[in-house]
Amino acid sequence: MPITPPGESVVDRFLRYVRIDTQSREGESTTPSTETQWTLARMLAEELRALGAEDVRVSEYCMVYATIPSNVPNDDAGTVPVIGLLAHVDTSPALSGANVKPVIHRDYRGGDIVLPGDPSQVLTVEQNPLLATMIGDDIITTDGTTLLGSDDKAGVAAIMTLVDLLARNPAIPHGTIKVGFTADEEIGVGIEKFDVEAFGAQFAYTVDGGELGEISDETWSARLATITFAGKSTHPGTAKGVMVNAIHGLANFLTRLPNDMLPETTEGRVGFVHPYAGVMDVEESSVKVLLRDFDLSGLEAKEALLRRLAAETERSCPGVRVRVDMKEQYRNMNDVLRHHPELTENALEAARRAGVQPFTRPVRGGTDGSKLTFRGLPCPNIFTGGHNFHGKLEFNSRRGLEKTTETLLHLVQIFVERAGARMRATTTAGAT
Ligand SMILES: [Zn+2]
Repeated sequence: MPITPPGESVVDRFLRYVRIDTQSREGESTTPSTETQWTLARMLAEELRALGAEDVRVSEYCMVYATIPSNVPNDDAGTVPVIGLLAHVDTSPALSGANVKPVIHRDYRGGDIVLPGDPSQVLTVEQNPLLATMIGDDIITTDGTTLLGSDDKAGVAAIMTLVDLLARNPAIPHGTIKVGFTADEEIGVGIEKFDVEAFGAQFAYTVDGGELGEISDETWSARLATITFAGKSTHPGTAKGVMVNAIHGLANFLTRLPNDMLPETTEGRVGFVHPYAGVMDVEESSVKVLLRDFDLSGLEAKEALLRRLAAETERSCPGVRVRVDMKEQYRNMNDVLRHHPELTENALEAARRAGVQPFTRPVRGGTDGSKLTFRGLPCPNIFTGGHNFHGKLEFNSRRGLEKTTETLLHLVQIFVERAGARMRATTTAGAT
């Protein structure tokens, strides 16, 4: 079936969106954290309306919601699952998102790419071996002075292009699709303001991943330990037999952490403990430690280990009292998603049909999807073709954007096919 192309290509959309500053900011008490995010959110709402989407609205928290109604006959009874597609409008606080000047390196011939605005910024094949697979592609970088914002405007552009394609190709069958664009993902708080119930999807996908083909249905399970060492301060001139220096307690504890259980010594499926911030004073010292593991049992073991090391420190530092406070941060979404294996399977199949070699890779971090999954909206993550997020060397490519869009186009059709197969199976079973 020949497909009518979108009114605007995914690359042109992407280039338009990345020029809009949507950087989020840590430590603000409002959502969105920056006024600038409204600009893109309102623009997307307008564009969705123009493309015929229904129930389009921007919430008081800068979240965009829209519905693409099903075009499957007699789908009122919800034969085809209602799926959601999500991307975030904001870019990382790590680097300026203003004055992004995307540069297209057409028909890439291999070799390192020097960014024109700052020649010290070089995209090397050595550090980016995937470049070797991108010969002939059009590589999209910045001029070297800002981030690109492919994270996650690639996801936004792919979803918008899908909406465009579906509007122009009514013969492509799809169930009800809910579109959601969120604010403040990069500072980890926006998703709390996302209304899962109003969104109305049964399942969703965040389109916020990296390498082409990468589907993620697994994240860390995460806890935060705050370990406090209480001592006794006194004038050091008359401290003999009186002072208890909490700083020595803290130091003693840190040397006990196993070397092979740190972020700098682990990868793949191996979890870690990570002391990352602390306060040192004689009277009281404290350290914050991240605990990360894919398995709940592994996380429990790490918590038990920290408590045991804290007790050992207390024994070997007379007078120092040690307290361990543990806080749950988020959980591995696979604990839920493994009960919905079809979500990952459908995404893998969609990528395959788009001509991409798919694979699953656990995220050594959390995603918006991990929070949504535990709020009742099972939500794996799909690639966007982007690389080197949150830095000046961030890049994507024409093929990356096009294949992401194509994957989404196949994904919505696969849900229709499989719902049809289910229906036929029940009809046959009922007939016998
Ligand atoms: Zn992102």
